[in-house]
Amino acid sequence: MMKFETRAIHIGQEPDKATGAIIVPIYQTSTYVQKAPGKHKGYEYSRTSNPTRTALEKCLASLEEARFGLAFSSGMAAISTVMNLLKAKDHVIACDDLYGGTYRLFEKVYKDYGLEFSYVDLTFPENILKVLKKNTRMIWVETPTNPLLKIIDLKRVAEISKRFKLILAVDNTFATPYFQKPLLLGADVVVHSSTKYLGGHSDLVGGAIVSSNPNYYERMKFCQNAVGGIPGPFDCFLVLRGLKTLSLRMREHEANAMEVANFLSTHKKVKKVLYPGLRSFPQYKIARKQMSGFGGTISFELKSNLAGARRFLKNLRLFSLAESLGGVESLADHPARMTHSSIPLNLRKRLGISDNLVRLSVGIENIEDLIEDLRRAFTLV
Ligand SMILES: *Cc1c(COP(=O)(O)O)cnc(C)c1O
Repeated sequence: MMKFETRAIHIGQEPDKATGAIIVPIYQTSTYVQKAPGKHKGYEYSRTSNPTRTALEKCLASLEEARFGLAFSSGMAAISTVMNLLKAKDHVIACDDLYGGTYRLFEKVYKDYGLEFSYVDLTFPENILKVLKKNTRMIWVETPTNPLLKIIDLKRVAEISKRFKLILAVDNTFATPYFQKPLLLGADVVVHSSTKYLGGHSDLVGGAIVSSNPNYYERMKFCQNAVGGIPGPFDCFLVLRGLKTLSLRMREHEANAMEVANFLSTHKKVKKVLYPGLRSFPQYKIARKQMSGFGGTISFELKSNLAGARRFLKNLRLFSLAESLGGVESLADHPARMTHSSIPLNLRKRLGISDNLVRLSVGIENIEDLIEDLRRAFTLV
């Protein structure tokens, strides 16, 4: 098999058959002419399939070492399609530190369709056994989690999942396939928000699913077409372009994040730094074992209160205050008031998403400029 960096540039992306164009064209078309009724070249209607999307789906599958890939109009459309594997009365066990939108989808949409959810701390995989029920069908994992960067031992969760014949779904948005391949650790389905590192340039919203299980794939492919949350060809082109530099960007994101984490760890105005690449991080060993790198996202608690956090965020110049992450430019987020505000206050408190918690998506600017920006913002807290 070709190496990761090579696959990112070539898989699904042979020169265009009609013209020799080296880049997969943006097939901006809704339909395809047929020779005779039912006689076509594999494409009938662009909700069902489109050549630019096919290229992206092949490349995504290859990067995760999966048999199948599916692209979506957003990460949430991808996650929603994974839930289409379930039926009313099925029970899902999810990790408790979830992306806010995923929690909202489960609680405010799929509960109304008769699905049941339990949220547990999956850094202790045996917690699954405490909430397991006769109707449990799926385990939903994010690792690293958002925003607390907790690491969940995928091999151990997969063992339990297999023992009870459950579907193990993993949101791999934070790590990307460059640093972590959940399917190789026993997951059945992997989802991504390609809005983040896969796209990498904060210029699109997209999602993806990969799997090597033909039954799950067939059902999700069917639902992709039946429900219709597909990406347009231009967005597929943008993700494909992003993927070509994924390895370069991830290495740089990580190198910068490591320096920022070290800087924060020794700063007197910082109470606690959450980054799986720090030896002091509780799940550092598991991260070392199941990931080939620690990613570019860091959370930390300021010693001061909400007002202090507000001042810090206001004083940043290079880090822009914005939701989202994974772009080449650095972003800062206040989870309690921004990305995770849809999580009820008492639950946020229990999880540790406090008012003085800040999340940084460390970009690939020059590290000295980034550290200088943080240093200056601290002086004004
Ligand atoms: C952003 C994000 C999502 C949702 O993806 P969208 O592309 O915004 O719909 C899901 N999971 C994680 C971990 C995310 O960061």
